[in-house]
Amino acid sequence: MQPNVETSVPVGDEVKTTTCYMCACRCGIKVHLKDGTVRYIEGNRNHPVNRGVICGKGAAGIMQHYSPARLSAPLLRVGSRGSGEFKEITWEEALKTAAQWLEEVRNRDPKKLAFFTGRDQSQSLTGLWAIQYGTPNYAAHGGFCSVNMAAAGLYTFGGSFWEFGDPDWEHTRYFMMFGVAEDHASNPIKIGIGKLKNRGAKFVSVNPVRTGYTAIADEWVGIKPGTDGLFVGALIHELIKARKIDIDYQVRYTNAAWLVIQNEGGDDDGLFARDKQGNPLAYDQISKKLKNAELPDITPALNGEFELADGRKAVPALQLLVERFLDERYSPDSVSDETGVAADDIRRIAAELAHAAFEEEVVLDIPWTDWAGRKHDKMIGRPVSMHAMRGISAHSNGFHTCRLIHILQILLGSIDCPGGFRYKSPYPKQTPPWLKPYGKPGQVAPREPLGGPHLGFPTGPEDLLVDEDHQPQRIDKAFSWDAPLAAHGMMHMVISNAAKGDPYPIDVLFMYMANMGWNSSMNVPDTLEHLTAKDPKTGEYKIPKIIYSDAYYSETVPYADLILPDTTYLERWDCISLLDRPISEADGPADSIRQPVVEPDRNVRPFQEVLIDLGARLNLPAFVNENGSPKYPGGYPDYMINHERKPGMGPLAGWRGEDGKSIGKGKPNPRQLEKYIENDCFWFHELEPHQKYFKHANKGYLDFAVSMGFRLSPTRVVFQLYLETLQKFRLAAEGHGTTVPPAHHRERIKTFFDPLPFWYPPFEGTMLDESEFPLYAITQRPMHMYHSWGSQNAWLRQITAQNRLYMSRTRAETLGIKDDDWIWISSHIGRVKAQVRTMEGVNPDTVWTWNAIGKRRGAWMLDSDAPEATQGFLLNHLIAELLPQRGGGYRYSNSDPVTGQAAWYDLRVRIKKASGEEAGETYPMFEPIHSPLDSDLPDVLRFGAQFKDDHSGTGMRR
Ligand code: SF4
Repeated sequence: MQPNVETSVPVGDEVKTTTCYMCACRCGIKVHLKDGTVRYIEGNRNHPVNRGVICGKGAAGIMQHYSPARLSAPLLRVGSRGSGEFKEITWEEALKTAAQWLEEVRNRDPKKLAFFTGRDQSQSLTGLWAIQYGTPNYAAHGGFCSVNMAAAGLYTFGGSFWEFGDPDWEHTRYFMMFGVAEDHASNPIKIGIGKLKNRGAKFVSVNPVRTGYTAIADEWVGIKPGTDGLFVGALIHELIKARKIDIDYQVRYTNAAWLVIQNEGGDDDGLFARDKQGNPLAYDQISKKLKNAELPDITPALNGEFELADGRKAVPALQLLVERFLDERYSPDSVSDETGVAADDIRRIAAELAHAAFEEEVVLDIPWTDWAGRKHDKMIGRPVSMHAMRGISAHSNGFHTCRLIHILQILLGSIDCPGGFRYKSPYPKQTPPWLKPYGKPGQVAPREPLGGPHLGFPTGPEDLLVDEDHQPQRIDKAFSWDAPLAAHGMMHMVISNAAKGDPYPIDVLFMYMANMGWNSSMNVPDTLEHLTAKDPKTGEYKIPKIIYSDAYYSETVPYADLILPDTTYLERWDCISLLDRPISEADGPADSIRQPVVEPDRNVRPFQEVLIDLGARLNLPAFVNENGSPKYPGGYPDYMINHERKPGMGPLAGWRGEDGKSIGKGKPNPRQLEKYIENDCFWFHELEPHQKYFKHANKGYLDFAVSMGFRLSPTRVVFQLYLETLQKFRLAAEGHGTTVPPAHHRERIKTFFDPLPFWYPPFEGTMLDESEFPLYAITQRPMHMYHSWGSQNAWLRQITAQNRLYMSRTRAETLGIKDDDWIWISSHIGRVKAQVRTMEGVNPDTVWTWNAIGKRRGAWMLDSDAPEATQGFLLNHLIAELLPQRGGGYRYSNSDPVTGQAAWYDLRVRIKKASGEEAGETYPMFEPIHSPLDSDLPDVLRFGAQFKDDHSGTGMRR
């Protein structure tokens, strides 16, 4: 019997609720304050995301808040870029300067502003601001992180993992996790895995490295990086061979039966056959006629060749998919060597998947009605669920690999059913998505807002942002022939392209919370050169003006000209909105806020307030009234309550309407934020039982989604086994249509825009001599850190202050390397020096390290001999932002060819033991950066002693 221990004893004089921001999970927290000082942070048991669970990062938020690296006043550069020489200025001077720089560009050519943000949680505001400004050059960090995952999911089934959807933790019997590092996601996954363990469900982790979640999996599949798609293809091969796919599910929810025109060389080859109204056609086996495939009462053929009215031939999409994966190329024996997974294991896992899906189905006695009005008395589910993240995404074959994982889920019939994957509102969205990117020639004009969003989902070459000469219209070349479906932009190319003036120079680079001078860039040495490069004729910087907002003195700060210091997450209002990336759960939509729990003690302002202020100064229509006065004089809270994206729809969905009784839509409620605070800073609406599953085709849910403004119409979502969008690009590459790629892009588009998913080897490995670079090199994230924020935190640094290069013990022995040796890690663009730690749980061809531990000397107010700077290292220094030159001289970015996702997990290296003289310190060692902050800091950072009677306590050296 467990003793009943009171674990939530107040330790201060006040407790305030808010939302954690020590990672992206956005757990609810309770902050205990004593005499106005943060004393303790605990998880909020009422909160739908974490149910009281707090992780090490969340609890250590205190040290993030009291970090000595916090910026304390607006700064203007006075020395050369990178010198760290700034002078303090007033906010009025800072805002006036920023507005002047921005206004001048907006009056002349708004695209000369590039506005990029990191892992911030206010993209609906930053995106709106950029639309109003009129630049096409806006994105957050998704192109660096996981756009392959998001784009493949949204194009295929209108959803994705993590913030978009979850496994059905309550019912799943078999859970497969692919390429997930420990911070993506954190508490929600831990809680979910705990549930699986309690119920005895099987957990299989596919990951080259056995750490974190993988260490507690029932089975570890130690795959070679970048070969997951081949492994999944082999699982599909086995399932099809064994006829273990859910055929009814394919007919009901997918485009399996839609007929694909077979007309090689024709301009319609590979497109869906359609009737005069544009409806896709299927062959109805009862009437023996071609019929509208969308009709619910047909019995469509899933194989065979059929003749269209004009004599053309067509076959069902599923037949093409089956033919592809029945091919010997995808047999377990064929893929075993390349993936490093034994053929028998692949066969066994396929059989286990089939067993869980078809022999252990979950039946819930919940009647529901489908999109066509058909009533079902039960909800029947296939209890197999999956989760994947950056390890799959950050490869040049990531888009198709992510699609393969989703196709596997669909073939098993496990999307949004009991025991399977479950969407979180506002998902599912329409497939393919209907939102198009803006920024074509003619859509960008001085002093004019952009007509629509920057980031969208092209469904054909006509949606690309290119001019008549095929030139990209965005600075990062997103939505050009380089990366047509770049739905999150390509942040990793901004600095390099801007410095080279390719496709054009910019005037102002505006960044928020994006450490693009260090761990949010590939090829850091070149990035720093780009940031400081000058035009030899004028002597001016090639990127003339850089404005940066951050809360901390990161490696990027010294490279900016104007610093707008942000607050910490405990000092500001924030809005985690359904217009953006909300905290919804599978059981219902949710959103949340942050409220300031302490007042800033420095001359800093929340970036959101600053952006709203700049919007008004620039006269951007959404930020001013008709008379030109500021529309949100009360700042961000004013905006959160009163901004309406569409009539009645604002940033927050809860307590809307003048009486506060509406959800989703309703007039602004002046008491809305009070209601959120009364409810622990979140709003959650639990769906009715009949709305909770099959949301893609459930009339009850679809009607609700329309009422909430999540969807425009209650039409069902059709899963795209066969993605016609890609075939349209391929036809263009064959010369069909009015928008065709230039000659040097054609082969690439033809190859990679395959409407059926397929596997190909990651690019970097195929372009290099494998014997010269025999090892894969990847990063993982420690459970206790998030991006570069964590490794400045005095408490979290006590867990990890130096990253090592981890490698297989047996492989190390063959190279004469042992624990603690210093080694050189070389890629085709450079080398870094690191210390080794050997281990068992890693694929023998793979080396890995923790990401973003390595810091530059002088940054983050760490001591100049801090282990992060002297012994820690960054793998980014070795990752090229461009692929090696190909025939014709064109250099593509080191990215996925479909989405432009940065392929930083494609890295190949060799390692060599360093000599005795070389041991002891990392390389490259950049010049220490000078900091304008108070350098008179104690050597040891302590916190909490003041709360004890004897003022004792331990601390951590900076
Ligand atoms: S999982 Fe992330 S959001 Fe939740 S408590 Fe930990 S750091 Fe905070």
